Amino acid sequence: MVSEYPPSIDQLARSLKDTGLPHPLLVDAARLAISEGNSEDFEKRARNIAESMASNLLTDVINATGVLLHTNMGRAPVDVSTSSTRYTNLELDLLTGDRGSRQDRAPQLLAKACGAEAAMVVNNCASAVMLVLAALAGGESVAVSRGELVEIGGGFRIPEVITQSGAKLVEVGTTNRTRVKDFAKAVNKENVVLNLSVHQSNYRIEGFTESVKISELAELDVPVVADIGSGLLDAACPWLESGPPAWLRNEPAARQTLEAGADLVTFSGDKLLGGPQVGVIAGKADLVKACSSHPLARALRPGGLVLNSLEKIALSYLDRDGNAIPFWRMATLPIDELRSRAEEINPLWVADTFSTPGGGTLPGVEIPSVGLVVPGDYSESLRLNDPPIICRVVDNSTICDLRTVHPNDDGVVGAALEAAVS
Ligand SMILES: *Cc1c(COP(=O)(O)O)cnc(C)c1O
Repeated sequence: MVSEYPPSIDQLARSLKDTGLPHPLLVDAARLAISEGNSEDFEKRARNIAESMASNLLTDVINATGVLLHTNMGRAPVDVSTSSTRYTNLELDLLTGDRGSRQDRAPQLLAKACGAEAAMVVNNCASAVMLVLAALAGGESVAVSRGELVEIGGGFRIPEVITQSGAKLVEVGTTNRTRVKDFAKAVNKENVVLNLSVHQSNYRIEGFTESVKISELAELDVPVVADIGSGLLDAACPWLESGPPAWLRNEPAARQTLEAGADLVTFSGDKLLGGPQVGVIAGKADLVKACSSHPLARALRPGGLVLNSLEKIALSYLDRDGNAIPFWRMATLPIDELRSRAEEINPLWVADTFSTPGGGTLPGVEIPSVGLVVPGDYSESLRLNDPPIICRVVDNSTICDLRTVHPNDDGVVGAALEAAVS
């Protein structure tokens, strides 16, 4: 108990030790509670502040939104377990004892999985695009269709990325129609050294439209880079027993884009690839080499934890084992299985719902799913549950979609919803 009024900051901070937060943070909480000055019970108020600080630290959450790649929840869930008592061979060649490259493992496994000569990995797809432009077109001109000068979530704007990379943007065609001769003119008359094709990702232009195929761009005299974004490795989905799901529609895939003639593709690791946050640059070995020897490559390289996690995913692709990749396992869960899980939790709450791929991929796509639905908005009490459960609220009903919930967490979700409702 703290007896003085107002209490000393230090004493108040010490009384909160059981929250498990380090002392300097408890001092902040105590200071804030006292500075508010209006509290009847400083200890209670300071405890409140400390508890909300603790709950804001990075923690595991249960995603019951049905959005498979939820940007607010780190997109794809991945395995990042490593030994805390040993080191890794991150840049060590165990056969020779010489220094190795962190780019020799996961990136090359991914290259194999999508039929590329070589690949390298950076922190995200935004940095992949930036590095490719800086390395292959720094100080020179890059042509992009006016229909593809997009902004993708969180302010990734193609014109700004091009400027930041040191390249000069040459806009070709129009918003709705661009033809290969527009690119040809830019290459011949404006000294364009690279043609960039950007997947529109989270929007569509419909109606009187025309765009240039990668195979047409490949006929021109300069390298073609395709920013496909989502990281679908192969349109045939050989890692899925039942082949590509219908909802993939015409999503561009790395293997087919390279086969069509792209010299490089860039894509995210944490969208349809289902891996950790990385950006992959895959394609012609000499162009990948030019990227990896650019000074920015060092600034953008990912750490060992991420490469470890990516390696597991890449090996699962080569094993054609989609079930080992959490994103693909969840995305392809049969509806009957979801329904029996829901019925096991509470037969009165079972309802059909829709999951979505999310992450700015496949706009408008809905994947039939099954969830628990109860009338009323219980999102707050579920969010404050330990562990937090993030649900969806539609028309004042709480929906917990089971597609994005691991079966091990069914009991936790059921109990939390039961507690919230009663
Ligand atoms: C998502 C996306 C990006 C950005 O990827 P991050 O990995 O989030 O940086 C870039 N280009 C396209 C086409 C995308 O879809």
